[in-house]
Amino acid sequence: MPGSESFAKYHQQPKQVSRFGPQCGTIAGMMKKIPTTSATNADVLILGAGMAGLATAAELSAAGQRVIILEARDRIGGRVHTVGAPKPRSAKSFLPIELGAEFIHGRPRALLKLTRDAKLELRRFGTSHWHWDDGRKGYATRSPYWQKVDGIMEELADFPERPDLSFTEFLATRRSIHPHDLEAERMARSFVEGFHAAPADDISAASLLIETRNGPDSSRNFRVREGYARVAEHLRDRALAHGAKLLLNTVARKVCWRVGHVEAGAQSQGRRQTHTARRLIITVPIGVLKIPRGHAGHIAFDPPLPPTTLRALDRIAMSSVVKVRFRFKPAFWRSHIIPSRARKKLRDVTFLHAPHLPFPTWWTHYPDSDPILTGWSGGPAADKLSKLTDQQIIRIGGESLTGLLMPTSYQAPLLQFIEEAHVANWQRDPFSRGAYSYLRVGSEGAREVLASPIADTIHISGEAAAPTGQDATVAGALEAGRRTAEMILAGCHRK
Ligand SMILES: Cc1cc2nc3c(=O)[nH]c(=O)nc-3n(C[C@H](O)[C@H](O)[C@H](O)COP(=O)(O)OP(=O)(O)OC[C@H]3O[C@@H](n4cnc5c(N)ncnc54)[C@H](O)[C@@H]3O)c2cc1C
Repeated sequence: MPGSESFAKYHQQPKQVSRFGPQCGTIAGMMKKIPTTSATNADVLILGAGMAGLATAAELSAAGQRVIILEARDRIGGRVHTVGAPKPRSAKSFLPIELGAEFIHGRPRALLKLTRDAKLELRRFGTSHWHWDDGRKGYATRSPYWQKVDGIMEELADFPERPDLSFTEFLATRRSIHPHDLEAERMARSFVEGFHAAPADDISAASLLIETRNGPDSSRNFRVREGYARVAEHLRDRALAHGAKLLLNTVARKVCWRVGHVEAGAQSQGRRQTHTARRLIITVPIGVLKIPRGHAGHIAFDPPLPPTTLRALDRIAMSSVVKVRFRFKPAFWRSHIIPSRARKKLRDVTFLHAPHLPFPTWWTHYPDSDPILTGWSGGPAADKLSKLTDQQIIRIGGESLTGLLMPTSYQAPLLQFIEEAHVANWQRDPFSRGAYSYLRVGSEGAREVLASPIADTIHISGEAAAPTGQDATVAGALEAGRRTAEMILAGCHRK
C-alpha cells in the first residue's frame, strides 16, 4: 500500500505532541503578540475552499460530519476565478472573464452533473485551430500541426516506461530514429510546454503517455456561460445548507497533530485562531505546501509530514501559466479592422497558435461573439513573464496580439480598442504559487502516495492528489475531493 511505511510510524502517538508540542510552542510564541479571538471544534477541518475543499465539505456535511473550512482568500473557488464585466449594450447581463480554469474538458460525469444541478448553461467551444505557418507568413487551418503533435505523443507508447525519461530525453532518443523531423519536434515541445505548462526537460514522459491514454478528450471543450465560479458557489451552498462553516480570510499557518486529533493555528485579519478537529483535509495547492520553512506562507507541521509524503511532494511540481485577457469594444477580428482577406477567415476562429510569440496561444469565445481575446503562456516562457509587472505583461500581450493579427500599420487601431485588460499571474499568487501540478521524471505513483491518508488523521487532496490523467483539472480536483470524503466516511462506518 502506498504510504504504508509512514502509516506504521505515525500510527503510534508521537510523544512530543500533546496539544501544541515543542515546535508548536515556538510558533505559538511567534504568534503570541497576535490576540487569539476564536476557537472552533469540528469532526473535519478542511484547508482551502477550492473545488476539492468545497466538494469534500459538501459530501461530508451531507453525511452528518461537522465541517469547518479555512480559506485564506476573501473568496471561494481558488484556481477557479471568474471576474465579470457588464455585457455590451446590457448592463444587467454578465460577461464572465475566467482568470483561472476556463474549460470543461471532455465529459467528466461529476462536473457535468454539478452544472446540471446548478442549472448552468454549457457552451460548446469551437474546435478550429489556426497555426502560424512560417514559410507562408500566414495562418493555416489544415496545418499539419496537430497531426504531427499527436503522432509524436502516440510514439511515447513505443518507448519503455522504465526507466522514465524527461520529454526532452524522449525527443532526443526519438531523433536517432527520425533525424529530419526537427520541425515536428519543435511543435511537440511547444505543445508540452504550453498545454502542460511544464519544462520539457523536467516533465515525465511516462506521465504524458498516461495523460494521452487516460486524459480527457481535449477536442470537446465547454465553457460555463455564467462563469466557472458558479459551480464553486453551488458546492459552497450545498455544504453550508448541511451545516458546514466557511471562514474566509483565514490563513492556516501551523498544524499540530497526533492520531485522531488535529489543532490548526490560523491568522485572520491580524488575529490568531485555533481550530481543532478529529481529521484534517489539506487541499491547498502543492505550491503552498512546498514553501520552505522560514519563508512567508510556510505551513508548519508538528510532527512533520512523513518522509514518504515529503518525497512524493518533491516528485510533483507546479507548472507556470500567465494569462492575459483583453476585452475590446467590438470583436474587431470579426468585422472591420483586419484586412479583408484575413477578416473572412478569422470570423469563426477559436484558437490561434504562433509559437514564435511570448504569448503563443490565443483564443476567442467562438461561436459566441464576446469581444474577448485570451493570451496564454505556459512553462519556461511563463516563468520568465511571471517576473514582470502586470503593466509589462499587458504591454507584451498587446505586442503579441498585434504580431499575431495585424500588419504593423494596424497596431495602433487594435490597442485603442482595448477596453479592459486582466493579467492572471499564478506564480505570483501567494495562495497558489503556480498553475497546476505535473509529474517530474521518475515519479510513478507519487500522486497515489500523496493521496494516502496519514495515520488516519491527515488527508492530502486537491488536483495534485487526483489520479494521473485527471490531475491538473477541475474534474480531477472534484474527483480527489470525492475520494477523500469516501475514505473518511468509510473509516467512520468502520468505527
Ligand atoms: C490559469 C489556469 C488555467 C486552468 N485551466 C483549466 C481548465 O481550463 N480546465 C480545467 O479543468 N482546469 C484548469 N485549471 C486547473 C484547475 O483550476 C485546478 O486543477 C483546480 O481548480 C484545483 O482545485 P483545488 O481545489 O485542488 O485547488 P485550489 O483551487 O487551488 O484550492 C485551494 C484553496 O486553498 C487556499 N489556500 C491556499 N493556502 C492556504 C492557507 N495557508 N490557508 C487556507 N487556505 C489556503 C487557496 O486560496 C485556494 O482557495 C487551470 C488552472 C489555472 C491556474
